[in-house]
Amino acid sequence: MRKKILSELAKTNTRLVAVSKTKPISQIQEMYDEGQRVFGENRVQELVEKHEALPKDIQWHLIGHLQTNKVKYIAPFVSLIHSIDSWKLLAEVNKQAAKNERVIDILLQFHVAEESSKFGLDLEEAKSILTNDTFSTFKNIRIVGVMGMATFTSDNQQVRKEFQVLNSIFKTLKNEHFEKDDSFKEISMGMSGDYKIACEEGSTMVRIGSLLFGNR
Ligand SMILES: *Cc1c(COP(=O)(O)O)cnc(C)c1O
Repeated sequence: MRKKILSELAKTNTRLVAVSKTKPISQIQEMYDEGQRVFGENRVQELVEKHEALPKDIQWHLIGHLQTNKVKYIAPFVSLIHSIDSWKLLAEVNKQAAKNERVIDILLQFHVAEESSKFGLDLEEAKSILTNDTFSTFKNIRIVGVMGMATFTSDNQQVRKEFQVLNSIFKTLKNEHFEKDDSFKEISMGMSGDYKIACEEGSTMVRIGSLLFGNR
């Protein structure tokens, strides 16, 4: 399965974030030995423990909901935070990144699914963040794109529609706020059940867990 996914993705512009949450160090090491360097986790404590235990050239992505009071634990090493969904969180990441003398890459997470349980901004909220005067003083974060999760449904048309909405949000922000900023280029969308549709709809980063590591 892994080989198949990797060879499918190799034909596209989409990169793989291997979602290793709940999986043991040994399984991550195995995929590392096969060449994978980008891994995603959704809980801060687990991310910190795995970062300590595993090779230091792994790029760790935080993909799950992040509480403001936990940013400080990952700020020294995290490579990309996918789940920025409020002004408060963005400000805290900037603050903790400054303390660590780093610039941390982040994605703005958008709510595009039907389910109300999923976190994320809408376009208006994102615009109000980006036009806030204080935002231009944030020197220790770099917004490199957007992230979203589709509704958990077998209705592929609906999933496709939601990925299209995320893609159009990306384009709007690109045109209105990041036109001259080449680093704003990522659309993180697609999981085990819907990554093929996500790739067709312009995903640059798929977050795949159970298809690579087995069911949780
Ligand atoms: C768990 C998780 C994934 C991966 O889910 P799979 O269905 O196992 O591929 C992707 N994105 C987020 C935000 C997750 O929490």
